[in-house]
Amino acid sequence: MRLVLFGPPGAGKGTQAARLRDALGLRIISTGYLIRSAIRQGSPLGMRVKELVQCGGLVPDETVRDLASEAIVHQRFSNFILDGYPRTMQQAQWLEAFLEAYKAPLMAVLYLDVPDDVIVERLSGRRMDTQTGDSYHISLNPPPGHMPEERLIQRKDDRPEAVLARLETYHRDTRPLVDYFDHKGLLVTIDGTASLDAVFEEICAAMGVEERISV
Ligand code: AMP
Repeated sequence: MRLVLFGPPGAGKGTQAARLRDALGLRIISTGYLIRSAIRQGSPLGMRVKELVQCGGLVPDETVRDLASEAIVHQRFSNFILDGYPRTMQQAQWLEAFLEAYKAPLMAVLYLDVPDDVIVERLSGRRMDTQTGDSYHISLNPPPGHMPEERLIQRKDDRPEAVLARLETYHRDTRPLVDYFDHKGLLVTIDGTASLDAVFEEICAAMGVEERISV
């Protein structure tokens, strides 16, 4: 199974990706997580893109392509969910050609549709587990009670000024891919404002899979 989870920042891509991982044994390939890890480790790539990412901009296509392709190859072209990739037309076209070349086309692009005002509210309460990259929301999706507080951080790009920049970037560079994937017959639009459980149920129903976890 090869899926893309698509949508604006804060649409719930990471949360639903984690549920799909747990339910179906898929590997999450999150370019955002890979980039944040590189920044945390202070690698040359991380140092190069740190400021850009923290201000809410996009990392250059070539840089993020290398991260995505390495992870896809590592997964032997199967059983993965791309979370946060592709985000530009160039990335989408490259991904399609790359997967086609290995006869491993995408099965679906799950588009979590959420309006901007809901996004802003969600991102202000979002916290990330630094060990797993899993996301929580302080009231809507609280972390497990046993998790030590110091494991949870607010991402720098979830601060209000960066959120507005990310939304602008999303509408300019990423949102046009909705039509692109729709024309390819791959787009599955899901109402991302519903509860986490309802969104997950809709995803499972759309893909014809039974939910295998209780949430
Ligand atoms: P995310 O965790 O998916 O919200 O990604 C966090 C940040 O990483 C984004 O705001 C971008 O700066 C960068 N990033 C992640 N994925 C991509 C991508 N596909 N193309 C460009 N930049 C990306």
